[in-house]
Amino acid sequence: MTIDRAEPVLDTSPLAGLKYECLPGCGLCCYAEPLVVPAEQRSLLQIVPEAEFRSRGGFEFLRSYPDGGACQLLAGQRCTAHPVRPGPCREFPLFGYVGTRLQAVAVLSCPGVDLAFLERYGGPATADPPHGLDPELSALRSRISYRVNRRLEASRRRRRRICRDLEIDGRWVDESEVRRQLQSRLLLPEDGDFPPPSPPSRGDGLDLLPLVFDGRAGPLAFAAGSGGWELLELRPRGGVATSLGVALPPDRLPPLSDEARRVLSGYLRYWLERDQLFGVVHLGMTEDSGGDVTDCVAGELRRIGALAVSRAYVLARLSRGTDGPISRTDLHQGIRATDQDLLDREGWGTRL
Ligand code: SF4
Ligand code: SF4
Repeated sequence: MTIDRAEPVLDTSPLAGLKYECLPGCGLCCYAEPLVVPAEQRSLLQIVPEAEFRSRGGFEFLRSYPDGGACQLLAGQRCTAHPVRPGPCREFPLFGYVGTRLQAVAVLSCPGVDLAFLERYGGPATADPPHGLDPELSALRSRISYRVNRRLEASRRRRRRICRDLEIDGRWVDESEVRRQLQSRLLLPEDGDFPPPSPPSRGDGLDLLPLVFDGRAGPLAFAAGSGGWELLELRPRGGVATSLGVALPPDRLPPLSDEARRVLSGYLRYWLERDQLFGVVHLGMTEDSGGDVTDCVAGELRRIGALAVSRAYVLARLSRGTDGPISRTDLHQGIRATDQDLLDREGWGTRL
């Protein structure tokens, strides 16, 4: 088979109108074990000779502190190896997805991403370029070569196989048609989408819990247990600093302010533009028997909405003591607590 030697184009359309500025003292993205390529490993060891790595699946990762702690190079909310930090740290909050095309999306869990763009998402098209993301975009682009074409072709093959099976069952609808049909609908969760699935429990490992930055020394984490969802503050060196209490997630759609409804609707439209959504939904459809692709994508968007609203609800009650409708700010926090989690799911495409 001949390899196409032209470099694939990076689709950046989902980033239109988005503004970003890294928040001093945050460090949320450092609660991770970044992938390190050999050249980066050598540079890191020159600056931090005691740096430790973990091998997984043939790749090397910078070790984090155990029990949900941050990367070992984070000290006082700052990276001690900033000039030679690995590729994923340079690119964050961007995420490259290899599907039928190569697409850049922003991880909305990053509090440096201004979520104001969601309120006009899906409205009159904006051609505004993203603001503040030039270094991250150029770091992402530096990894693109013609070799990515092999991975694109592998993703397209996986999609074609699923498409064939779903066509036989009369369930296939092409992505462009699904987007066309759903863009004009109000995409909000319904009462039946609540309560959403619980987060993992403390016993599953603190590093699996959904995180959100809340201005504290360590991130907040959701854990299931103690009769509801528990909100924990984690320590940078690992372990739980304190528990902020337990609350039940809502069992139906709770009241939302008008602004919060606009944000939620924009968030779900943003998801509709992410190619990864289709990778996840198509794969899930191979194991269930209900509805065509449009129905399944609509159902998945409602479930995403229910999760973001529920996390906003529990966060607002436990960390801010709010009892009224979910506000725009609450919903921003719910989206931040949800987005990274959902981007880690398996589909027929892969992360760049
Ligand atoms: S999560 Fe975002 S704002 Fe926070 S340190 Fe990382 S890039 Fe900066
Ligand atoms: S290498 Fe630096 S930027 Fe990357 S996760 Fe570790 S502390 Fe954060």
